[in-house]
Amino acid sequence: GIESSELLAGKAEASDEEVIRVENLTKEFDIRGEKGAKKKLLAVDDVSFSLRKGSTLALVGESGSGKSTVANMVLNLLDPTSGKVFYKGTDLSTLGSSELFEMRRKLQVVFQNPYGSLDPMYSIYRCIEEPLVVHKTGNRKEREARVAELLDMVAMPRSTMRRYPNELSGGQRIAVARALALNPEVIVLDEAVSALDVLVQNQILQLLAGLQEELDLSYLFITHDLAVVRQTADDVAVMRQGKLVESGTVDEIFANPTESYTRDLIDSVPGLGIELGVGQ
Ligand code: ADP
Ligand code: MG
Repeated sequence: GIESSELLAGKAEASDEEVIRVENLTKEFDIRGEKGAKKKLLAVDDVSFSLRKGSTLALVGESGSGKSTVANMVLNLLDPTSGKVFYKGTDLSTLGSSELFEMRRKLQVVFQNPYGSLDPMYSIYRCIEEPLVVHKTGNRKEREARVAELLDMVAMPRSTMRRYPNELSGGQRIAVARALALNPEVIVLDEAVSALDVLVQNQILQLLAGLQEELDLSYLFITHDLAVVRQTADDVAVMRQGKLVESGTVDEIFANPTESYTRDLIDSVPGLGIELGVGQ
């Protein structure tokens, strides 16, 4: 719940209100080992964390550490082997299909590759409109007005509406516009800026920061890139081989990483020792 001091402070800052909480989340995959023998892979092992309303929690770790598996369980795209995901205190596993459908509005995702989630046969208009259609939001005219508004929000000219996603470089802006269509509360960004060159990456990070402030969005920001974490996150949770090895505020973790694994991740980023001075 919200502390009274937070209410008194009355700031538009991240509050202590949890929008997402995961408790003892575990995922075991059945895989084939050598000679095709069946084995279990513990991809996520007893992970717990919470995402505060209006804040950014970075989930970091090397490739294969289980970040996307956690994301997919948070998004309810994958069932946990054990453990729970709560959205504003509601255990997702207790929801029926219609309740889950409603809740999906509130939890959106942007993946690394916009062309993986945006259908190249769809005009940009249809890509952004699709969630509105699926959730039966508004009539045709209202949806068109909403798409125009969403393009404004991601600083894309309205004229791009009739073009196709592979025709332009603003793919991640389109993916963000689509994610915003249903007024979500939480956006999971799974390596959403990882494939972009540094210039475009900074533009998208600034866009996301502005939208967060304006719309009080909460971000679960998944990345293997610690430089990006420094720029954008409030809190960090570090994963290694499916386990959460440490967590805290960005300032705490960067100033005093207790795990050598985290230190190695920080040290592997060129120039992180010096102040970045970006996104301040
Ligand atoms: P990350 O996003 O941190 O790179 P992932 O969550 O994608 O890591 O993967 C964690 C581990 O789980 C990896 O070893 C990966 O190969 C394995 N894994 C992920 N999805 C599946 C799946 N559907 N079936 C079997 N193994 C999987
Ligand atoms: Mg991943």
